[in-house]
Amino acid sequence: MIIAGKLTLDDLPRVAPLVCRQTNPRYGEEGTRVVEVGGVRFGVGRPIVIAGPCAVESERQVMETAEAVARAGARVLRGGGFKPRTSPYAFQGLGIEGLKLLRKAGDAFGLPVVSEAMSDTQVEPVAEYADLIQVGTRSMQNPSLLAALSRCRRPVLLKRGMVASVEELLEAAEYLLANGNPSVILCERGIRTFGKLTRNTCDIVAVPLLHQLTHLPVLVDPSHSTGRRSLIPPLARAAVAIGADGLLVEVHPTPEKALSDGSQSLSIPQFARMMRRLEPYLRLWEEELALSDAAAPAAAR
Ligand code: PEP
Ligand code: MN
Repeated sequence: MIIAGKLTLDDLPRVAPLVCRQTNPRYGEEGTRVVEVGGVRFGVGRPIVIAGPCAVESERQVMETAEAVARAGARVLRGGGFKPRTSPYAFQGLGIEGLKLLRKAGDAFGLPVVSEAMSDTQVEPVAEYADLIQVGTRSMQNPSLLAALSRCRRPVLLKRGMVASVEELLEAAEYLLANGNPSVILCERGIRTFGKLTRNTCDIVAVPLLHQLTHLPVLVDPSHSTGRRSLIPPLARAAVAIGADGLLVEVHPTPEKALSDGSQSLSIPQFARMMRRLEPYLRLWEEELALSDAAAPAAAR
C-alpha cells in the first residue's frame, strides 16, 4: 500500500522484486549475492577495500597511488576520468586519457579498476577500460544511464543519491536487474542533513537495513560521507563492524594539492595506517560471520 507517495516495507516485494530479499528466498535471511569484479569477489569473505584518487590527474599520481594502496591491502583501484563536479569551473577530469592511465596503473599492480560513467553515452567508453562502473550520487535516478548500464557487460557500483531514501536506492538497483544486469553493488556515501561540520551524514544503519531488505552487497564510502580525512578511519572501522561488504576510500599522494576532494583524501601513510587499524575489526567480522553461519539453517548458507 502506498501512503502519501511513500513506500512502506510491504511494497518492496512488488516494486523491487528482483533486489528484494523476501522475493528471492534462495539467499535466505543473510546470504549475499556475490558480485565479481575482475576476479575480486564482493559479498563473500572479508570486506573488500577499494582505494585511489578521486580523479586521475597524471600518470605519476595514479601509479604511485596504485602501488601504495595495493601494498597496504586494497583489492580494487578507483579513479575518476569523467568527474561530476558541482561547479562548471572545477576540474572535470582527464576523460578517456584518465581512464587509460587508470587501467595502466591497475594492470601494473594487479588491481581491477572502477570509474564513473555520468551519462548513457559514456557507458561504452568507460566499460572499455573499467572492470566496474560507478553511478555517482548525482546520477542515481538517471533512468537512461541505468538502462544503458543494465545492457552493458560490466558490474555496477550504484551510489546512493544524496537526497535519496533507501527505498529509492533499491528501486534504482531494480532498474539494472530488471533490464538484465544482475551484478550490482550498493554504496552508502552519506546523505544531506543540516549539519555543516561534515560534508554529508553517513546513514550507517542503512548498511544492516539494506542487508535485511536486499541480497545485494553494500559498501560504505567514508570519504564522501564525511568530507574530512580525520573522520575516514573511524567511520571505516564502524562500517566493517556493522557488516559492510567493503569500503570506497579516496587516497592521494599529496592530498593538499589534489584537483578534487583533497580534504577527504587520505595520504599514502594515512591509508596504510587506516588499513592496519582495520585489521582487528576484520578479524572480528570473520568471527561474527562464523557464528552466524553456524547458527543458520543449512539451506540458507
Ligand atoms: C566520487 O566517488 O568521487 C564521487 C563523485 O562520488 P559521489 O557521486 O558519491 O559524490
Ligand atoms: Mn570524490
